[in-house]
Amino acid sequence: MDSFKYVIIGGGMVAGFAAKEMVKQGLGAGELCILSADTEPPYQRPPLSKGFLAGTEEVEKLFINKEPFYADSGIDLRLGARVRAVDLQARQVRMVEGGVVAFENLLFATGSSVRHVDLPGADLEGVYYLRTLDDCKRLKAAAAKAKSAVIVGGGFIGTELAARLGELGPEVTFTYREKRVLSYFLTPELSALYEGRYRAHGVQLSPESNAAAFLGNGKVEAVRLEGDEEIPADLVAVAVGVAPDVELAKADGLEVDRGIMVNEFLETPVLGVYAAGDAASWYDVNTHKHQHVEHEDNARATARHVARVMLGQRAPFDHVPMFWSDVYDISWEFWGETKAADQVVYRGELEIASFSVWWMKDGAVVGAMVTEDQHETVGKAAQAMVKARKTVEAAVLKDEEVELKA
Ligand SMILES: Cc1cc2nc3c(=O)[nH]c(=O)nc-3n(C[C@H](O)[C@H](O)[C@H](O)COP(=O)(O)OP(=O)(O)OC[C@H]3O[C@@H](n4cnc5c(N)ncnc54)[C@H](O)[C@@H]3O)c2cc1C
Repeated sequence: MDSFKYVIIGGGMVAGFAAKEMVKQGLGAGELCILSADTEPPYQRPPLSKGFLAGTEEVEKLFINKEPFYADSGIDLRLGARVRAVDLQARQVRMVEGGVVAFENLLFATGSSVRHVDLPGADLEGVYYLRTLDDCKRLKAAAAKAKSAVIVGGGFIGTELAARLGELGPEVTFTYREKRVLSYFLTPELSALYEGRYRAHGVQLSPESNAAAFLGNGKVEAVRLEGDEEIPADLVAVAVGVAPDVELAKADGLEVDRGIMVNEFLETPVLGVYAAGDAASWYDVNTHKHQHVEHEDNARATARHVARVMLGQRAPFDHVPMFWSDVYDISWEFWGETKAADQVVYRGELEIASFSVWWMKDGAVVGAMVTEDQHETVGKAAQAMVKARKTVEAAVLKDEEVELKA
């Protein structure tokens, strides 16, 4: 039986950044094994709905560590290696193809899987999902030939696909259940900004729409909505969310809310067993509650931190979660949360996508969105103010003459 000091289950963003940091911190050759169900070495997923899909970013740019990083660092990277079960007591993982790998320390980095819809016609050719590089290559090739595309689902991936697929050729109809784009996150003003951009780019918006069936004979030809409207489509991209892959941990008795519950050191209650990225819910020393974040910055930051903890630098993870998105010229970063807010303050100009938005609770900043052009001037202050739950007058935030300092 193979045995390693460190085993990472998952070969996605966390695995890539954790491996990089572990090497930096002095990982020895032969100490780390990465068991990945993916067919490619760890890569960045965000470009799959942005630059790589649009054809502006090369595939080589996606990989987190340039080959031959893994071989040179003495890391045993096993691709197409899916773990079937974990035995935390015996400190072993069992592989789907058979075989057992023993570990001293284990990191759950299993990420998320896309949710599939269970609708008539869901298995027709021309119905796509997007999570992996292979998914993206297939979608990109199909979009180049398609005349009409329907996006099903109005979350982050749906909003990005609606913009990018239109640029690749097909006429796009963007269908979503909600009354307005990304209504669970954006304010009505921000949704209106997005909707204006889609219209200006010829994307048809179909709010309050539920897909009922995909129609076609072998290959998709249309989407039927509840209420019987049919939208022609030779390509359908379904983006209805993800579910964290936590079953392995749950099956062996670890506590799971949406992610595997870990403390502020990213440790589970089992000594030497950790979780990071989409698969984790970590205790936040700033808000004193568990955070579950399915975004890139969380994958990078938890990966680096857990790598240091595993190699002996045991410090609490002190981080304000950030996420970002790009739709046409609307490119922003966001820190904090919006749910608790009782007031929203705008600074700058929405229409030219140069602004910041501040979510406040009892006069304190709890969330902030900053467009890319203001990253240097306002971004650092936003991050610091969210972290400190800074109390500020709305009039001060609004006033662009007032410089905001971290
Ligand atoms: C198209 C797309 C666009 C995105 N855009 C953005 C963005 O603009 N901004 C942003 O903040 N975030 C974005 N994200 C989210 C971000 O990419 C994820 O949060 C991040 O990839 C999470 O990293 P992870 O390592 O936890 O999981 P993943 O990167 O999903 O990696 C999980 C790994 O675990 C493997 N695995 C799962 N189960 C097993 C098993 N049983 N055995 C072995 N291996 C297993 C998988 O094969 C995979 O290799 C995007 C995601 C996608 C898909």
